[in-house]
Amino acid sequence: MRKTPETIRLYGMTMCVRCGAKIYERVFNHDLNRFDVYKGQDEYVGSTYLYSIDEMEEIDKALKNGECPLCDNWKMDCEVE
Ligand SMILES: [Zn+2]
Repeated sequence: MRKTPETIRLYGMTMCVRCGAKIYERVFNHDLNRFDVYKGQDEYVGSTYLYSIDEMEEIDKALKNGECPLCDNWKMDCEVE
């Protein structure tokens, strides 16, 4: 039996298997985190700030379910165009 994981998670980094985007989880302050999104050759796309534990858990769950900030058009707080 072979199972392909939707996402690859290691040390707070999630990689999207659809577009190859890398989502890095960074500690933003004591409790809350920030996710930095990179695509291609480590090209910075933007960041999503999490203002509550609920939001963090929601995003964490979404990433584990294979969702991606780029493929699924998440709103980003700071974005490079
Ligand atoms: Zn993606």
